[in-house]
Amino acid sequence: MEFIALKEQFRRHEKHIRARMDAVLAHGQFIMGPEVRELESRLSEMVGTKHCLTCASGTSALDLVMMAWEVGPGDAVFTTPFSFFATAESIAKTGATPVFVDIEPATFNLNATDLERAVEAVLRRDDRLYPLPRQAQAGNPPLRPKAVVVVDIFGHPADYDAILPFARKCGMSVLEDAAQSFGGVYRGKPLCGCGCDAATASFFPAKPLGCYGDGGAVFTDDDALAGCVDSLRYHGRKDSSNKNDNVRLGTNGRLDTLQAAILLAKLDIFENELNLRNEVAKRYGALLCSLPDIVCPKMPLDGRSAWAQYSILLPKYVSRETCIRAMKKDAIPTSVFYPKGLHIQNALDYLEYKVEDFPVVQEVTARVLSLPMHPYLTEIEQQAVVASLGKALSR
Ligand SMILES: *Cc1c(COP(=O)(O)O)cnc(C)c1O
Repeated sequence: MEFIALKEQFRRHEKHIRARMDAVLAHGQFIMGPEVRELESRLSEMVGTKHCLTCASGTSALDLVMMAWEVGPGDAVFTTPFSFFATAESIAKTGATPVFVDIEPATFNLNATDLERAVEAVLRRDDRLYPLPRQAQAGNPPLRPKAVVVVDIFGHPADYDAILPFARKCGMSVLEDAAQSFGGVYRGKPLCGCGCDAATASFFPAKPLGCYGDGGAVFTDDDALAGCVDSLRYHGRKDSSNKNDNVRLGTNGRLDTLQAAILLAKLDIFENELNLRNEVAKRYGALLCSLPDIVCPKMPLDGRSAWAQYSILLPKYVSRETCIRAMKKDAIPTSVFYPKGLHIQNALDYLEYKVEDFPVVQEVTARVLSLPMHPYLTEIEQQAVVASLGKALSR
């Protein structure tokens, strides 16, 4: 059994993918070729934003927005500690201070009430109101609340109706890190197009829409931001007709034409794959309720998850390691996303957070386990996963 079935997907759609790749090999425009523009217009139409700028990776997408917003020293950028490292890395690299906010127990996404408390604590430089990094505590120069980076973890939409109005009131920009959720829907609006100032996607092979290498995209309705990101991803060039006129310090952050071609082929099957992922998730829910004390992910009530991962919480009384080993013996692959909160990653030691600063993250990182999830998982395979898990639990 595979954790993510990229080979099966290729087997089913090989002809279509190869035809798209062959077209690029024939025309030879490997950088910013026609497929890049075609992909950008299809993606922006799909999510309903004015602009889509593809780029080198999901990390590059986050970096480009941070650069365009001129996030830097003296800024506080609020985010979740329960994510892939890139989310916090992109903030910290600019010299800004990442300020972490605990998550909701039901969705594992940023808790909007905690966000309000964290902003208040930063403004008052008072870590009795909320756990703060050392740089935001009394005795340090005040930090300016600049932005919030919200993650739709495992593909589940975050609580934008609560987060967006509060951020606006505080004058903060909101960036949606939709690396895991592209294709999902929040209250009738496609993710990446649900009202944030900018959104980023990743096309890393293992994400719901993945290419055969690295890739990413920035989505926005903001003309100035789009123009700036377009320039930054190409060494700060003035515009496409002024390649040798560099007006800002940028980077090489472009998406290859070949990757764009692969994504165009996969985009044709994406909607169907998302529906299949949702069926797989529903089946897991039904099968897992026969097991004691397992916490299943909630199906979003008025939206759709992209189901990048199907992540459960194990009962407190079992050892996750024992469970993983037992399932491995039954040839069931599992994964732990994530065993450690970002607030206690060594690279961020200088923030001086403690593991117990975010109790929900502490609990979830200790108990979370991701089961095989891909569109082609069969009911029989899922029964085998759940039977193996049940056996492991009863040891
Ligand atoms: C995968 C991921 C990224 C980074 O994307 P890459 O394309 O690997 O650079 C950023 N944020 C989250 C939440 C992710 O899951």
